[in-house]
Amino acid sequence: MTVPGFKGEILETESERKLYMRDTSLFEKMPSTVAYPKDAEDLALLVKHVRSLREGGEDISLTGRSAGTDMGGGPLTNSVVAVFTKYMNHMGEVVADSSGGYARTEPGVYYRDFEKATLAKGLILPSYPASREICAMGGIVANNSGGERTLEYGKTEKYIEEVDVVLSDGSLTTFKLLSPSELQMKMVKQDFEGEIYRKMHTLLTQNAREIEARRPKVSKNSAGYALWNVIDSVKGSFNLAKLICGSQGTLALFTKAKLALVKPKEHRAMLVVFLTDLALLPDIVNRVLPLNPESFESYDDKTFRLAIQFLPQMLSQMGFARAARLGIDFLPELELVALGGVPKLILMAEFAEDTIEEADRKAIKAERSLADLRVKTKIEKNERESEKFWIVRRESFRLLRKNLHGYYASPFIDDFVVPPSTYTEFLPKLNALLDEYKHNFIYTIAGHIGNGNFHIIPLMDLTRPEVRKTILELGPKVYELVIKYGGTTTGEHNDGIIRTPYLPLLFGERMTQLFEETKHIFDPLDIFNPGKKVALPGKGGTFADIERDMITTTS
Ligand SMILES: Cc1cc2nc3c(=O)[nH]c(=O)nc-3n(C[C@H](O)[C@H](O)[C@H](O)COP(=O)(O)OP(=O)(O)OC[C@H]3O[C@@H](n4cnc5c(N)ncnc54)[C@H](O)[C@@H]3O)c2cc1C
Repeated sequence: MTVPGFKGEILETESERKLYMRDTSLFEKMPSTVAYPKDAEDLALLVKHVRSLREGGEDISLTGRSAGTDMGGGPLTNSVVAVFTKYMNHMGEVVADSSGGYARTEPGVYYRDFEKATLAKGLILPSYPASREICAMGGIVANNSGGERTLEYGKTEKYIEEVDVVLSDGSLTTFKLLSPSELQMKMVKQDFEGEIYRKMHTLLTQNAREIEARRPKVSKNSAGYALWNVIDSVKGSFNLAKLICGSQGTLALFTKAKLALVKPKEHRAMLVVFLTDLALLPDIVNRVLPLNPESFESYDDKTFRLAIQFLPQMLSQMGFARAARLGIDFLPELELVALGGVPKLILMAEFAEDTIEEADRKAIKAERSLADLRVKTKIEKNERESEKFWIVRRESFRLLRKNLHGYYASPFIDDFVVPPSTYTEFLPKLNALLDEYKHNFIYTIAGHIGNGNFHIIPLMDLTRPEVRKTILELGPKVYELVIKYGGTTTGEHNDGIIRTPYLPLLFGERMTQLFEETKHIFDPLDIFNPGKKVALPGKGGTFADIERDMITTTS
């Protein structure tokens, strides 16, 4: 493919295309063309070109890709992929102000580099995901990512302020907060942007009641389009950047984002709970949450055993000095394993304050609140002490992917959320379902227990057809249960290939229609990442697509 005037590279060799046929999901799709745009103007030329081919009847589309760490197949395509990490990777200004501050960034900036720049001003984006070392800002915004600090600080949707975008006609604009009069000015524009504003305003105001009623009632959600976030009815403001956040590149591709930042508290202390009786979980969560931990995370006995098994390898990757220290730090927990006393769940409630004494006080208060439950607990008095728990929590998925040969880490029920108040009823039912299929996979559970957000990443031999069938049988059963208990299918990893087919079940018929109308308003020719968020028969978003695009090898 040749795009006149394109300054970056467009490559179609097999070796180049192979680089982008996978993310961290259980799918693979070989792109037909790889484009590395140099800047927003380049991307606009590419969009215009793809659009004109589409108008000419060609079956072509364009999917954005940043670091490719998505767990659901979001950046996978058989058509053109535009990769942002090669050139569109510049950090913009970072400004500190009285309320925290903000940063501007291109999508291809890795989070680790973004954070270095924001920390230089004493600020962070607190919605960073657990994949913080490997993911980029493009996916953080487009997936509406969240992470270990979301419990206190919320997800990326709260921090996104502006996005510079390329629309599906190839025009460039900025979506940002508009006052009612500024919105009026946008709506009278006689171009594609004006049309988007007019149509979206009508859709959102005429269906306001349905949209609000269908807003997921859990503390984090990445499923569907965040129609409920665009209008602030109190201020009367309107911001389409809030809709682009979490839309997985299906409405527009963004070339720059402005994100609000916060000044993090300086000191942390952690209460660790070693839980053997899962029946106590709801009670523990209900007692600890009111004390406002900054994070409340968990991982299970299988994660713990695997971490212990592969610990030496993991530690050596971190450099020897740190490895030796962490190895020693883990000795008490190794003793637990030796005595056969591995707890079913390890809970980590971390309290952040401006002084270490205050953080410790809070952790101790939380520990005391559990005294009558007779659970084994431990206080880690500072971040150096709690580091080992964070390492296991953050690195477990990567460990599994790397070390269990013959099995593939297969996320398909990897990110659902249920209200913590339902744990007592929900968890036994979930375990019963998992038990039904356990002959077909090994699984671990980790997650954001304070938000009710569970990460179950089964290890599966995807070469076996009966194992692949499990994904299509167990998935619907788990999601039906999650929805029955008032939950959502994805708290942060988003819909992608794996969850788009469940959106009608989660949101109902009318809301599904509103998602389709939204897609049509922004992208009438379906050129942006088709088959994600909205099912397009023949182009993706159905259970048949899940079945067809699944990896069938072990590596
Ligand atoms: C070990 C591990 C842990 C993880 N933990 C978390 C977690 O805690 N929380 C979480 O939210 N996620 C998590 N993830 C999933 C993933 O890493 C994050 O969602 C991350 O933010 C994706 O970023 P990326 O740059 O890799 O995105 P990509 O995979 O490149 O893309 C993700 C989606 O964004 C779209 N996109 C990319 N760039 C643009 C753009 N410029 N414009 C429009 N659309 C674009 C893509 O088309 C795709 O649909 C984890 C993944 C792994 C492997």
